[in-house]
Amino acid sequence: MTLQLETAPLVEKTPLERYVAPAKPSLIGLSRAELSQALGMLGVPEPQCKMRVQQLCHWIYFRGLTDFESMTSVSKELRAALADHFTLERPEVVAEQVSVDGTRKWLLRLPGETQGTDIGERPHEVECVYIPDTERGTLCVSSQVGCTLTCTFCHTGTQRLVRNLTAGEIVGQVMAARDRLGDWPGGVRPSDGVVPMAERCITNIVMMGMGEPLYNFEAVRDALLIVADGDGIAISKRRITLSTSGVVPMIERAGTEIGCMLAVSLHAVRDDLRNELVPLNRKYPIAVLLEACRNYPGVSNAKRITFEYVMLKDVNDSIDDAKALVRLLKGIPAKINLIPFNPWPGSRYECSDWERIENFSQVVFDAGYASPVRTPRGRDILAACGQLKSASEKLSARERMALRAMAMTD
Ligand code: SAH
Ligand code: SF4
Repeated sequence: MTLQLETAPLVEKTPLERYVAPAKPSLIGLSRAELSQALGMLGVPEPQCKMRVQQLCHWIYFRGLTDFESMTSVSKELRAALADHFTLERPEVVAEQVSVDGTRKWLLRLPGETQGTDIGERPHEVECVYIPDTERGTLCVSSQVGCTLTCTFCHTGTQRLVRNLTAGEIVGQVMAARDRLGDWPGGVRPSDGVVPMAERCITNIVMMGMGEPLYNFEAVRDALLIVADGDGIAISKRRITLSTSGVVPMIERAGTEIGCMLAVSLHAVRDDLRNELVPLNRKYPIAVLLEACRNYPGVSNAKRITFEYVMLKDVNDSIDDAKALVRLLKGIPAKINLIPFNPWPGSRYECSDWERIENFSQVVFDAGYASPVRTPRGRDILAACGQLKSASEKLSARERMALRAMAMTD
């Protein structure tokens, strides 16, 4: 019996609106107002809530505690009540790969999901990547399990299961990474890896992992505001970059409600090509996207927008493309980030030759733009840009039925 699976390429996949909260929820990811509400539920009198929330934030996000017991400034009774109703659980590291260049990729299992008994169902997992440099350490964080979009050069785009992450699961990636790196006050750093010569291992956050962050706006916003809170993890908004494939209607809100740095995945200078590479361009073409960038709240020469441009051999890497790119970005405070294409199993593109990349970069540089070429990091462990794809695939209902039918007739 041969299985007829759906093979037609999807332009946009529907996100699965199923999130199974853990029986005992984690406090990670709650805003100060939500923490205050939780304390109110436990009987903490209203006038005390603000101070108690401050204490909790300190223990959870500044010190990185994983249990309530060690919160010495909190009364014994409240610690017990908190432990009865909540946890400080973060995503669990189920696999770690360390690249020869020190890049680390973690496969994180999200708390609360059951293993699933249905054929083909697995726990939900995301990937998170740590890229250490001499003076900085960047954590590449995911916003969704998979991605509803289908950019043709991106491995994540081929993943079928899509679920939005909660704010807790997004902040939880930062917490899990800091646990693993001993990146809390008094923590012990790993002896087997490269860490920056900075006070902290994680100095920068990029929302460039799996998923389209502006398709999960509220959760991403709430998570990033927690990450930037000066009393806790305290990573400045200038060191947090959100990358979007161009969800135009949400760009302004990202500026006003988050206030982080913006990166835009441009990748092509003509609509016909961008329609193919980034199918979302059919909804929001280049001119509309660039208009939203011009109006990005807070944009200035000191706060430039990064335009990402993946270098695809003989597709978008000509000198004419480079010239058109600088013409297109005229008047927008911009940085251009050239990304050598990172191949993945089954990908249909090749990376441009180095000479091409250098020539392209020269045109951009001569036009007055800093044009760093993003050194591929962690390619040996499929941790570089666009190579992420967790095993959280889910078979379609039709495939499951076909498999069941097959099992029954065998
Ligand atoms: N969804 C968001 C953020 C995640 S992707 C976005 O698309 O912007 C992060 C960056 O990696 C994007 O610029 C994306 O276009 C790029 N990318 C995806 N696949 C890639 C690949 N195979 N090689 C190089 N860069 C890739
Ligand atoms: Fe999604 Fe970004 Fe990959 Fe496109 S490049 S499929 S938007 S993760």
